[in-house]
Amino acid sequence: MVRLESLTVRYGDRSVVDGVDLSVGAGETVCVLGPSGSGKSTLLRAVAGLAPPAEGRVLLGGHDQAGVPVHRRGVGLMFQDHQLFPQHDVAANVGFGLRVRGAGRTERAARVAELLGLVGLAGAGSRTVTALSGGEQQRVALARALAPGPRLLMLDEPLGQLDRGLRERLVVELRSLFRRLGTTVLAVTHDQGEAFALADRVVVMREGRVEQAGSPVEVWSRPASEFVARFLGFSN
Ligand code: ATP
Ligand code: MG
Repeated sequence: MVRLESLTVRYGDRSVVDGVDLSVGAGETVCVLGPSGSGKSTLLRAVAGLAPPAEGRVLLGGHDQAGVPVHRRGVGLMFQDHQLFPQHDVAANVGFGLRVRGAGRTERAARVAELLGLVGLAGAGSRTVTALSGGEQQRVALARALAPGPRLLMLDEPLGQLDRGLRERLVVELRSLFRRLGTTVLAVTHDQGEAFALADRVVVMREGRVEQAGSPVEVWSRPASEFVARFLGFSN
C-alpha cells in the first residue's frame, strides 16, 4: 500500500529524513517511535505531500506520488497540533474532507454523527472547537482524519493529550476499528505502550534514519542497537 524508497527530506543542508526505506502493507498498522527531532512528523508530512522529497520516492498503491497534490493522495493526516479550523464548529471540522469530496448535506451529517459517536463526542457537533479541551480537540481531529475513509490514515501523536484511562480505551477501540475497516495506518507516537497495543510493526527512528523495524515483540526482545535499547528503556 505504501512504499518509501530512499526517501530524503532536507531543510537547508540538513537531511531531516535521511534515506528511509519503508513499506506498509494494506490493512497493516505501523507505529514510528523515536526521540524528539528524529524526523517522525516530517516523514508523515512527506508521505502526505506536505514536505517535498529531496531524493527518493513515495509510492501509494504502487503509484509514484511525485507531483500529486495532498488532496489527491487519498490520505488522512491527523497533525500533532490538530490544526482544527477555529472559525468552524465541530461538525464542520469533521465534515471538511467529505465536503471537499462533494458529499451531500445528508450524507455528511450522518457520517459526522457516526464519527463523533465513535470518538466519544456524540451530540457535540454544534460546539465551538476553541471551547473544547485539548483532549476533545484531539478527538475531533481524529474524527476529521477518519471521515473521508482514507486509504492511508496517518496519525501524529494521536492520543498525546488524553488522560491515561481515555487513551487506553481509545487504543483498544481504534485497533478494532482499523481491523474492521481494513484501514492502513502509519502512526507516530512516543508512548511505547500505545505503539505496542496498536502496531503490527514498529519502526524506531534516529536522526532521520530507520534504526530498527520489526514486530513489537521482536523490537522489545531483541533491540538492534544500544540506541534502541536505551530509547525503549529510558523513555516512557
Ligand atoms: P517530535 O517528537 O518533537 O515531534 P519529530 O521526530 O516529529 O519530533 P520533526 O518535526 O520531523 O521531528 O523534525 C525533525 C527536525 O527537522 C527537527 O530538528 C526540526 O527542527 C526540523 N524541522 C522540521 N520542520 C522544519 C521546517 N519546516 N524548517 C526547518 N526545520 C524543520
Ligand atoms: Mg513530531
